[in-house]
Amino acid sequence: MRICIHRGSKQIGGSCVEIENCDQRLLVDFGLPLDAEENHSQYLPQISGLDGSDPSLLGVLISHPHLDHFGLLAHISPKIPVAMGAAARRILGAAVPFLPGNWPIPSGGWNYQSGKRFNIGPFCVTPFLVDHSAYDAYALLIESSGKRIFYSGDFRSHGRRATLFERLTENPPQNIDMLLLEGSSLGRLADSQQFPTEKEIENQLVQIFSSTEGLLLVHTSSQNIDRIVSIFRASKRTGRKVIIDLYTAAILEATGNANLPQSAWSDVALYVPQTQRLQIKNNAWFDLLKRHSTNRIFIEDIKHLSNRATLLFRPLHRFDLERGECLSDAIYIYSQWEGYWEQGAYDMVKDWLERYSIPKLSTHTSGHASPSELKNLVKMLSPRKIVPIHSFFPEKYPELFPKVEAHNDGEWWEI
Ligand SMILES: [Zn+2]
Repeated sequence: MRICIHRGSKQIGGSCVEIENCDQRLLVDFGLPLDAEENHSQYLPQISGLDGSDPSLLGVLISHPHLDHFGLLAHISPKIPVAMGAAARRILGAAVPFLPGNWPIPSGGWNYQSGKRFNIGPFCVTPFLVDHSAYDAYALLIESSGKRIFYSGDFRSHGRRATLFERLTENPPQNIDMLLLEGSSLGRLADSQQFPTEKEIENQLVQIFSSTEGLLLVHTSSQNIDRIVSIFRASKRTGRKVIIDLYTAAILEATGNANLPQSAWSDVALYVPQTQRLQIKNNAWFDLLKRHSTNRIFIEDIKHLSNRATLLFRPLHRFDLERGECLSDAIYIYSQWEGYWEQGAYDMVKDWLERYSIPKLSTHTSGHASPSELKNLVKMLSPRKIVPIHSFFPEKYPELFPKVEAHNDGEWWEI
């Protein structure tokens, strides 16, 4: 078996690995670099058969629905099958119509079931559901000709699905020849430090919520389902209703998980911002709107609810909230990666907060394993070799783990 990291040996984002055996090939992840600019096709790795003309390219395995792992799929032939979780596939299908630009809806292909092996040509794949900030995320065991590669994907053990990590550690796959290990936290967190747990985030939110007089504007990703649950639980504990928009309602529905907050729940309300109303009209999404309208409210209801509501804020809400005069004593809580804020992605929100003198607070935890969580995975898998991927600091691996073998982007090697 031969393997090549096309992108990701020295960076976070844009992950893509190619595995070859018996003249057949598989790709593992097909991500967009985090710093990608316009014209995404310029980031396509040099891989033959992306146009669907080479049957030796059997398919693409996507670990989870984050853009830096699947974002280039729009630029390959739809004839190439794509493997991923069934819920992840539904989430992408639900999200794409709302997003600007050319985002991919993956072609058909294999749907993962955690722990269930399946064959693709000479390869045998076993997906393992993991705890991550993306819903329906997997680590992947790939076997061929007696060799075994374990691809960690992105994972953690401090989220709401930490038991998945425990389950994996209790019964780990044996005889791993090579572990491709993500290292997002290296260089960002000291080796001995831990990220807060998602439960701790919920408790921090409870403290903020209970001392706020006005409307809460909580800004997070609608696809970070763990965080939405934390916001929902904190709201429930402080007597607040959670107000979602149609995009979030569609994503929550697409999880197919009736235990997660849904638009029809009595402590959830749907508010459709003006820009989304236009989108609905232009695209005739009337069935979708109707399906989520059980608890629909309007801007005057938000003003009236005020300190009994938490709005899952998106920048497009600004104009509605101004017009509806909903902002007295409001607090804005930024609850996602600080990097987006620091890089200026939300400068329009920053200016708006200043204009209305709305205080900004932040609370967040990482979707990635801390160095000690990474060590736990290494200890339980006890792989023959560890290859750095998805890290800006591959040179730190040998300080933390045994048997590290670093490879460069574009370099092929034999297992
Ligand atoms: Zn991820």
